[in-house]
Parts: sequence; structure tokens; C-alpha cells
Amino acid sequence: MPGMYEHSNKNRRKPTKFERFMSRYFPSICLVVLAVVCVTVVITTIQTVSNNLNGTPSEPIQMESTPTDGTGSTDGSTPSTPTTPSGPVMSDELIALMKEADFIAGGYNYTKAIEMLQAYPGYEKFKEVTDKISEYTTLDSQLVSFTDMDSITHIFFHSLIVDTKRAFDGDSDSKGYNLYMATISEFNKIMEEMYERGYVLVSPYDIAYETTDASGKTIFTYGNIRLPAGKKPFLLSQDDVNYYSYMIGTGDGKDKIPIFADTKGDGFASKIVIGEDGFPTCEYMDAQGNIHYGNYDLVPLLEKFIQEHPDFSYHGARAMLGVTGYEGVLGYRTKPSYAETIGQEAWEKEVEEAKKVAECLKAHGWLLVSHSYGHPAYGNLTASRVEADSQKWEDTCEYIVGETDIILYPHGSDINGPSKYTMSNEKFKALYEDGYRYFFNVDSKVAWIQIGENYFRGGRRNIDGYRMYHYPEKLSDLFDVSEVFDPDRPTPVPTI
Ligand SMILES: [Zn+2]
Repeated sequence: MPGMYEHSNKNRRKPTKFERFMSRYFPSICLVVLAVVCVTVVITTIQTVSNNLNGTPSEPIQMESTPTDGTGSTDGSTPSTPTTPSGPVMSDELIALMKEADFIAGGYNYTKAIEMLQAYPGYEKFKEVTDKISEYTTLDSQLVSFTDMDSITHIFFHSLIVDTKRAFDGDSDSKGYNLYMATISEFNKIMEEMYERGYVLVSPYDIAYETTDASGKTIFTYGNIRLPAGKKPFLLSQDDVNYYSYMIGTGDGKDKIPIFADTKGDGFASKIVIGEDGFPTCEYMDAQGNIHYGNYDLVPLLEKFIQEHPDFSYHGARAMLGVTGYEGVLGYRTKPSYAETIGQEAWEKEVEEAKKVAECLKAHGWLLVSHSYGHPAYGNLTASRVEADSQKWEDTCEYIVGETDIILYPHGSDINGPSKYTMSNEKFKALYEDGYRYFFNVDSKVAWIQIGENYFRGGRRNIDGYRMYHYPEKLSDLFDVSEVFDPDRPTPVPTI
């Protein structure tokens, strides 16, 4: 279009000096500017990288995160900026100690957590540590003494069912498992729900203990449990932590023939062992005969839960584990007469292993207690037979699990009615003289506690298929049965 061309030509003017200069030199100017920018960027990057490699973070990173959360430089290098807000760099040892103290504080034992931190030489120089101490002091001041001791409930389980297919396979033991046992899935849901509802596991020694009064007389007195307002203490025990032959394999383990785990087992853990991490765990044989180690019963399951929720355990409390002696303890075939059939050496190995496991359990706060030697109903026995059974427990269990002053009555069968024990009760006298001070029967009430002059007694509630299926309302303070009940459990659950 010529017209347009002409039009533009008409408006053409002579370029200015500046425009001429620019048209000649612009490309060169651009190159120079670009080169300067590149060099600057490269130098800055090299400086930043080299600073970071030297452990001196560049400014924005350096600010807070390094010292306060304990994850900062631990290679001992000194930050080049002298204004680190928290003073000296913490050693790995101190960082680990703070983590440990935090776990202890999680269980409301702020006094111990503070003592742990204050035992570190020069702790005052670390602001993180002094801040933690102030935090624990404040939290401790917010705790309140739990006074409603009579309301403390005590629940108990038997061995937990790992494989419901094998436990409920219709053989002659299935009915008993359905009545008296809980499954792993049920146990996990129950703990989760009780945690949500504010329950906190305590030890019977937290509730009551023996002391002397002003006149020097031995008396029992209530302890001082201090928890955040609204939290509810509870006791937990497990009966028959023996992994009996009928549950783990073929045969009944009676007389001199011990039974070890085999593929005919009913889907339970076969023993407690020490895990690679030093915590107690379980051995389990599956239906194909493969051996597994892990969370196959109450001990490792609860241990794991508490590691994840330290506020579920008051001052590091764990459950009471009741053992009988007639087949050995904790899954080890330690009954003395087994030495005749498996050989002295093999039997001694069982004893040694059981001792190590018992020590490991106790080191982690578990209480190993008596559930009698032969599982008789003490209520129906004569005093001399109670005494004989108690003696047999001492002979077969005490040298492995250690002394105890706690007994979980087999079948929940108490030696007396609800009135207080006195020394005129021969059975009580025998058990008292054997060192027992804490006595637990089985009772369907939410809580039943009796504090005597020289003993403590309480009821326990069974958490099992029978209770859940037939009396769900009696468990509503703890959990909602409809949320917990294992669908693999055959119904109707039989009656006793
Ligand atoms: Zn029992």
C-alpha cells in the first residue's frame, strides 16, 4: 500500500545525536551490563555455598531454627555471627537428654524431668534448657491432686488373639477364646478410645502404699496422684502371661512334656522376647510355621502406644502381668520337671532367657506379679492349700520374675467376702506372711477399692467377648462396644 508508505515517509526526521550513538553502541552496552550481572551472581552464589559448607548458614536461615529446636549444627563449629540468641551450641548428649526429659515430662513427672536437666553440668548457660525448666515448672503447677480414689477402675485382658481364623476355627478351645479373650484389633481400639476420653494408666503403688504412722505402726495410705484436671487414672493388668501349650501348639503341656509353638497353634503370640531396640516384644508363629517378631500381644502394643502417647502413662506406669508357674512363665518352659524331658542344659537355657526377659520388662516399668502357681480358685481352697500353692509359685516363678507383693486371684476368686481382711483369716495370714500386700479379685463394678490397715484390695473388670457381647452397657464409661467389637468374632458369644 503505497499511500501508507508515503505517509510515513512524510513524517521522517533526522535522528538525534543520542539516537545515532545508541544505534551504534547499544549492543555493546548490553553485553557489558549482562557480563557484570553474571559475574555478581556467580560471586554471591560461591560465597553462600561456601558459608553453608562451613556450617555458617546465610542470614535468613540462621535466625531461630538452629538452636531452639535442637536440630542445628552439632559438629561443634562456631557460628561466625556472634549474636546466636541461645548461647553455646548444645552437644548431642544434651540434645538427647532434653528428648529423654521431654518423654518423662510427658508422663507428668515434671520434677524428675527438671532434675534430669539440672544434673547436666552448666545447664544454666543454655537458654533452651532454662526455658524448658520454666515450662515444666509451670505445667507442674497446673496439676491437681486426684482425690476420688474410689472411682479408679481396673481392667484386665488375657493373651490377645492375633489370628482370628485360627482362634475361632470351631475346635474345642474356640468357645473359651470367644468368651475370655480380646483380639488385637479390639485392644488397640480400646486403648485409643480410653486415651481420647482422658484415661491415664497408673501403678497400684501410685494409688496406695505402705508407710508408718507417727506411732511407728505400719499402715496403708493413699498416694498423691497429680494430673491435669479432667484426667482419669486407671489400672491395667493381664492374666496368664504364660502362652500356654494349648494356645500355641499341639498338646496340653501337662506333666513333664513341654509344648513349644507349632503350626497347630490357635493364633496367639508364643513368648515375650527382647527386641532389637531393647524393648520387650513378642514372638509369633503363623499358620505356615513362619516366625515373626513384633506387636503380637498387649506388652509390645501398649509399649508402642505409650512411646507415641507418653501422657497415657503416669510417671512411666505399665500394666501388671500375672504369671502362673505350672507351665513356665512368659512363654518359656521353665517348669522344673521339664528338665527331665528336654534335658538339663536346654531347661537352663529356658530359665536364663526367661530371666533376661523378666529383667527387660521390669526395666521398662512392667510389674511381674503372681497369678498363683496352679490357677486354683483360692476362695474354695483350705488355708493350707493356699499356702502350699503360694509356696509353689515362689519355688517356680520367683527366682525368674523376682519378688512381688501383688496377687491377681485366679478365676478372680477372693479369699474373703467384701468385709475387710483380718489376721484371723488364715488364708490372708498365709499370703500376708508370703509378702503379699495388693490383692485383686474380679468384680463387674466400675470400681471397687478397699484400703485396709496392712493391705490394699481391688476389683477388676474383664474385657472380653462375654462382657462386650452380653453387657456392653457396663463398659460404656470406657468405650463404645459397637465401635470396638471385632467383626471376626463369632456371634452370638456363648454364655458362661
Ligand atoms: Zn487366669
